[in-house]
Amino acid sequence: MVDDVTAALAGITAALPAGGEHRPGQEAMARAVGQAIARGRHLVVQAGTGTGKSLGYLVPAALSGRTVVVATATKALQDQLAEQDLPRIVAGLGPGAGLTFAVLKGRSNYLCRQRAAEVGEAGAVHEQLELVPSGDRVPGGDRVPSGDRAGAATAGEEPPGIGAQVRRLLAWAETTETGDRAELSFEPAARAWAAVSISARDCPGAYRCPSGDSCFAERARARAADSDIVVVNTHLYGAHLASGGAVLPDHDVVVFDEAHEIEAVMTDSLGSEVSSGRIRALATQARTLLPGAAGAEVDDVLEAASLVDDALAPWVGRRVAPEVLATGSDAPLGLAVERALRRLERLVASLRRVDGGGDGDRNDGGDARARRDRAVLAGGHLIDDLAHLAGLSDDEVAWVEDAPRSATLRVSPIEVGPILAEHLWPDHTGVLTSATVPPGLAGRLGLPAPDTDEIDVGSPFDYRHHALLYVAAHLPDRRTPDAEAAIADTMAALIDAAGGRTLALFTSWRAMHAAADAVRQRVPHRLLVQGDLPKSALTDAFRAETETCLFATMGFWQGVDVPGPSLSLVTIDRIPFPRPDDPVLQARRERAGGAAFRQVDLPRAATLLAQGVGRLVRSATDRGVVAVLDSRLATARYRAELLGGLPPMRRTVELDEVLAFLRGLG
Ligand code: SF4
Repeated sequence: MVDDVTAALAGITAALPAGGEHRPGQEAMARAVGQAIARGRHLVVQAGTGTGKSLGYLVPAALSGRTVVVATATKALQDQLAEQDLPRIVAGLGPGAGLTFAVLKGRSNYLCRQRAAEVGEAGAVHEQLELVPSGDRVPGGDRVPSGDRAGAATAGEEPPGIGAQVRRLLAWAETTETGDRAELSFEPAARAWAAVSISARDCPGAYRCPSGDSCFAERARARAADSDIVVVNTHLYGAHLASGGAVLPDHDVVVFDEAHEIEAVMTDSLGSEVSSGRIRALATQARTLLPGAAGAEVDDVLEAASLVDDALAPWVGRRVAPEVLATGSDAPLGLAVERALRRLERLVASLRRVDGGGDGDRNDGGDARARRDRAVLAGGHLIDDLAHLAGLSDDEVAWVEDAPRSATLRVSPIEVGPILAEHLWPDHTGVLTSATVPPGLAGRLGLPAPDTDEIDVGSPFDYRHHALLYVAAHLPDRRTPDAEAAIADTMAALIDAAGGRTLALFTSWRAMHAAADAVRQRVPHRLLVQGDLPKSALTDAFRAETETCLFATMGFWQGVDVPGPSLSLVTIDRIPFPRPDDPVLQARRERAGGAAFRQVDLPRAATLLAQGVGRLVRSATDRGVVAVLDSRLATARYRAELLGGLPPMRRTVELDEVLAFLRGLG
């Protein structure tokens, strides 16, 4: 098996467009992954930039004879696997291998035939637009985007362009083969797409749906079930676990690429959330289905939604203790949740009694029955989530987040390790890989130590000669009044020496704008600032215009790939410690007690710092400087933990040396 992997990898990389090259780290990774799958042992692989880690796990996965799900954190990587790497492997192994693969997305990424039929037949664009609780998380790995809220439209007030977009989507539904939103030739507004799509939470399933036989999402799932390798995003994998295994086809092995993201994604996916928007959406649905006499029940639920809103308001930005929500609580929030629960139970019971038409067969009763079934299903999920709030365990944390139209009460597990240890690792071999594996990740994810191996295959890049790490030890403490001006002075000098070509990373929007304002007047190069353009357009412009600088915040610390002369300098404004008010991290700190800093904050800062530093060298010929404008990296007791996670670059605290190095890059 291991020799087969080596031979197949050599053949596939030799056929790469650039002629390919032998990468010892990639080969070591592929052999280790092959062995891990064959032996059923979990494997954590740190594979530095340039390893070619996707082929390092895909080739052994393809040869394993097992069914494999690959979960990625970004769409860019998902596209790379499906459009480049996997087709190359299929071609390299030849038709005799019979390797098949598929991409599977969350249900709301596919047009819903049933909702499209209802909108089309009834011309019910207004009604459909009212039923979407925009901004709510939906099982299936997706979130209905905020900022374009449903419910704003009232009968007779079609928002400009939305109705036309829906009609365009209905026309597309007649011609598309896949129903995949990504294949649209235009970007619909969130509300237009919401009118013809559905979340996994609200879909009754093909068996109970009149359009089940022609359902795009079901077809995609069937294709995935017939495939050897299925590519998904990590959120969808989290939704799969949260659903008890109902989302993805059976599989033997799961590969998590960008494994440094797993803990955060699973924390999010394995939680739940309740908002008044969700309650109101159900009431609006129910009003169209219930006889007039039941209107009072709908009004009761709408009143309960308002009470929930009022009770959530004082908690925005704060954690909510379990006793506030526990059964019998006399706190206003607990009482409001309890009242909403009871009224929803009555409403859903009434919905169940509605004769949707037909005698139970999914094709009897048609659209009316389908709408009733969906409302009952959505109501059942909402009741479950509200009831769960009344009995939160000490292993969960609840808090209230602000949102454009209504606050949201969210619940997450404090630790995901015990859940994964019970529900994932016993039945699936896990392969986890990242360029920066956070310290202690395997333990926090519940991987059983006796059955788990960890390796580091390094990076093929010559960091020692090509890159310099500069720590600006002379800068004053950030909290002093003259710190910002001193940082701006240093940044301007560095950017000038680099001839532009700078990615300036910040830990806050405020710091980014302050630095951009201060530096803009002092360097002759164009400054692109996050927020001026969409992320992809900013990155494209930065890549295309060689002497341009890009100032950006946390969304650009990872996943930005700019090889070549456009990037010679990465500046980092401060060590990226997590926010002190993050509710999940607060709960973890309390559990860790005196070890909180080292167990909770330091590993996250080390990983994110390494991700930021990793933006610099993206190809074997890249050269440049990473400048950390935070003197703590030169002085703090914990600096060794942070420096230990970085590539093996030469280090200096001498500004003159750095300026000379940058000028020498030409
Ligand atoms: S099963 Fe029916 S309701 Fe569910 S996504 Fe498919 S068409 Fe839509």
